[in-house]
Amino acid sequence: MTKSRIYLFDTTLRDGQQTPGVDFSVQDKITIATILDEMGIDYVEGGYPGANPTDTEFFAKKRTQDASFVGFGMTKRPGVSASNDPGIAALLQSQTDTICFVAKSWDYHVRVALGTTNDENLNCIRQSVEAVVASGREAMVDCEHFFDGYKANPDYALKCAVEAYAAGSRWVVLCDTNGGTQPGEIHQIVAEVAKHIPGENLGIHAHDDTGQAVANSFAAVDAGVRQIQGTLNGIGERCGNANLISIIGTLSLKSIYADQYETGVTQEHLKQLTRYSHRFDEILNRAPDAQAAYVGASAFATKAGIHASAILKEPETYEHVNPSEVGNIRRVMVSDQGGKANFLNELKRCGIKVSKDDPRLDSLVATVKEREAKGYAYEAAEASFELLARRRLGHVKKLFHVESYRTQVERRYNANGDIKTVSEAVVKVEIDGQQIMSVAEGHGPVNALDKAIRKDLGKFQNDIDDLELVDFKVRILNGGTEAITRVLIDSIDANGHRWTTIGVSENIIDASFQALVDSINYKLMISANT
Ligand SMILES: [Zn+2]
Repeated sequence: MTKSRIYLFDTTLRDGQQTPGVDFSVQDKITIATILDEMGIDYVEGGYPGANPTDTEFFAKKRTQDASFVGFGMTKRPGVSASNDPGIAALLQSQTDTICFVAKSWDYHVRVALGTTNDENLNCIRQSVEAVVASGREAMVDCEHFFDGYKANPDYALKCAVEAYAAGSRWVVLCDTNGGTQPGEIHQIVAEVAKHIPGENLGIHAHDDTGQAVANSFAAVDAGVRQIQGTLNGIGERCGNANLISIIGTLSLKSIYADQYETGVTQEHLKQLTRYSHRFDEILNRAPDAQAAYVGASAFATKAGIHASAILKEPETYEHVNPSEVGNIRRVMVSDQGGKANFLNELKRCGIKVSKDDPRLDSLVATVKEREAKGYAYEAAEASFELLARRRLGHVKKLFHVESYRTQVERRYNANGDIKTVSEAVVKVEIDGQQIMSVAEGHGPVNALDKAIRKDLGKFQNDIDDLELVDFKVRILNGGTEAITRVLIDSIDANGHRWTTIGVSENIIDASFQALVDSINYKLMISANT
């Protein structure tokens, strides 16, 4: 039986941006778009071209390779032609493959928010879609408040959807913007709409205000839609959006869906679902939800006790899917096969070959587990992981040794009576038996240490000249007097490599220094290989 295709549409860069406390930089957006592209998401929507400097810069270039790159915007304003509408002009200028319009489909909103007539709103939808189609791009329309609109005035909501489809919209997406619609209602209303617009042209956009955005998305699929919109880890305003990570797990692994549908996410990428989810949390600088479906640290954890031996004998008795299929691990095992398989995968990703019987692998697994218990998060710091692995497996030597470092912060008044804070650092390193000492001043103790250690690295100085620190994230892992600090540093070089390293300590400066030294070592390692 040929399977029918379900298209996945990500709105993390717009709906996710509405989450309280979330504010993506252009670089964050580029990184997230790259992750989504690699995952096999069909549509990556980037926000509003022209709306603010971040989005204008982001849309100056196409940011995906395989995924369709989507710009989002309002349908044209009433009273002007599409060609005279500045919003439409900005959309048409952006480097996108697809343009998604948000259109009113609830007559109440047409009257109150747009202040126009129902007929004029239909006209806006038609002309906007026609302008995009004429530009040679794919058009789609998100019918905002569709379900509430349908309940208030089914004829008009349907007219809006049909108008978009008739004008040439590839997709008509039905949105539960307020997030209060129930799965049974979604099913019933989508089934009605599917009598007028083919399911293969319909999409669902669900918000999670009653905790059912994923269930609502599947109710819509059951009623015929073939596009699902959502966000990574379900972030979004209020209670969030449909969680694409959970949706991908279910679409790929539950036979009721997997037997009849396929998506752009391959088996290989499905096996990295946990890593994608955690990577995204690290970009947000927040701790992953341990109880998240499929990918949470506790998703396949069972407390040892009466179940432990049964799980060891027959894991299927206590697990709804095999954790390795989504790159997660079972957390009860004594002989850690699941963990090891995961490691081998991770090592393969770094291009490291090792036999699964190699005793050094067991020692590496033990070291990583021990460090993760202390607060290291290697999913987020692949460069530190690769460095640790290559060292344990004997692939790289230690090139330099930091004998000691010292840093001080001085706050004093200058000659003009203004307060000044000055930081100074001294770093002593040893290379081939020779000691080098460097001193530097900086804006803060970490900056001073960074400058000092990179001032003179002897024969390696040339290799680190183009190293640049571009991001620095600090997280306090547990409150109180025993708080542990985790530092993640992103670095780049002149060849466009970007990598993340990690340090963990009770002392923030020490944690930063570890991440810094890892970054330098990683840079020396890649320089030696190129
Ligand atoms: Zn939304």
